[in-house]
Amino acid sequence: MLQEWLLKLLKKLLKMRHKGKRAVLYARVSTTDQKDNGYSLPQQKEALYKYCKNNDIDVIDYLEEDHTGTTLDRPKIKTLRNIVKSQKIDLILFHKWDRFSRKTAQGLIEIENYKAQGIEANSIIEHIDFNVPQQQMMLFMYLGIGEVENAVRSQRTKSGIRGALKEGRHVNRAPIGYIQGKDPYNNNKPLIKPCPDKSILISEIFKEYATGLYTQEDLRKKYYKLGIVRSKSQFSNLLSNVLYTGRVLVPENGNELCELVPALHDAIITEALFLKVQNVKFGRSNVRLNSKSTSAHDSQLPLRGGILKCAKCGSNLTGSRSKSRNGSYHYYYHCNHKKGCKERFKVSIAHEELENLLISLQPSKASVRLFKAILIDEYHISRADYKKDSNRLKNTLKTLELKLDNLTEKYAEGDVEKNSYIRLKEKYSKDMNEIKLELSEIPSPNKGIENYVNFGLMLLSDLKSYFQKSNTEVKRKLIGSIFSEKLVFENNQYRTTKFSEVVDLIFHSHRDLQDLEHKKGDSISKVSYSVAGTGLEPVTFGL
Ligand SMILES: [Zn+2]
Repeated sequence: MLQEWLLKLLKKLLKMRHKGKRAVLYARVSTTDQKDNGYSLPQQKEALYKYCKNNDIDVIDYLEEDHTGTTLDRPKIKTLRNIVKSQKIDLILFHKWDRFSRKTAQGLIEIENYKAQGIEANSIIEHIDFNVPQQQMMLFMYLGIGEVENAVRSQRTKSGIRGALKEGRHVNRAPIGYIQGKDPYNNNKPLIKPCPDKSILISEIFKEYATGLYTQEDLRKKYYKLGIVRSKSQFSNLLSNVLYTGRVLVPENGNELCELVPALHDAIITEALFLKVQNVKFGRSNVRLNSKSTSAHDSQLPLRGGILKCAKCGSNLTGSRSKSRNGSYHYYYHCNHKKGCKERFKVSIAHEELENLLISLQPSKASVRLFKAILIDEYHISRADYKKDSNRLKNTLKTLELKLDNLTEKYAEGDVEKNSYIRLKEKYSKDMNEIKLELSEIPSPNKGIENYVNFGLMLLSDLKSYFQKSNTEVKRKLIGSIFSEKLVFENNQYRTTKFSEVVDLIFHSHRDLQDLEHKKGDSISKVSYSVAGTGLEPVTFGL
């Protein structure tokens, strides 16, 4: 009871204090502040006008701008200073303190300057009675929070994130299918965990897409209804997000190359499924190839018919199996008996040696850079998509904001009834919020390129595993793009083999790449296309 009475009195006192005063209103949003828990400009404007109306304050001017709050060097703050000089003003009002400044010291100095001219700067939400010294502490806090928030964030960005990533801890917002959780084994640090409902849907999406029977658009539409994702580019990135396989990408930093590390969070899909999806995604043609049934017999002998050359006579080797006494089969590569060549060796030994050869192929630092050059071409394409998407949404948002502005004005002038005003305002606000959400969910092109890099690096750094997991068709393609000559197996090892130009470029060359890097972008682009053309790219590598 007493509290209520006190509140009423305070409100009354406040009203008296401000009555008849002349105010400049100031509203700000920022598209660059990382976190700007702000209200939209129309929302701030509405609240400010309402406050003035309730307190009998005359509005002399209304200023709004889109600018970061970490500096007072803003166009409309300059306008504000000019207005203050040229007109009689009593109040400067804004929504919350962080609308005015996110820098404590700068903000305080600015407020003191106004005070010296007999002007009170104040927030309508976090109102401070400057006559009460204790309340000034609150001002310090309001301004300080914004600054501390910024400082903490940028510090964490610099040092913490990389360490966390190297531990396998995903540090950004949880991707769809995961939710934020705590790591019970490590001081309850943040750790994403599969979302009970959505992780199942994510797994379904990958499985369905891997069949090759659906386009991305088919699935996007289907799962959109189930609350998965909105935009095309977001869906595309989802399909290449390596996080789902329980791996984390640590990006390049200074001299450190980027790397993939096992994640602390649980995988939603298997690596094999992920790779299958990349194959469908980056090279739909392979799907048709792969769907051509290869017999179990063929799959045991991927190197026969044109890949292995006889060490003794130079003919192409073929392969067969023989049945052992206990009924199991043994596979051999062999030459043509009828022509009298007895060359013959076990498939298992030949394959094992080939895998060792693949293990020995480690990408050089320069090659990783080249790979990036390839990806930058991809980036330009995805950036165009991104711009189109985000411009469309921003325009829609602007239109809605204008509509709401007009509506508010009309209502203020009495041209719109209260009920229609409330109904329409709710509708516009809801639409606007949806668009904002959609905007925030469009993955930036950088994100896309990161996913692509993930995939490329996985391939380059672990050719052996990809070889093992691929089907015969892809195995043959892979070998075809790695070696420029037929393979010759002799005395349980491969004769010195000649690698294809592209593999030399990616895995061995140093000078050429360095030269290339110093040249203009278009040459890199040219090389990247020539690399892509030979098949050493996700299209062929994906299995
Ligand atoms: Zn032979």
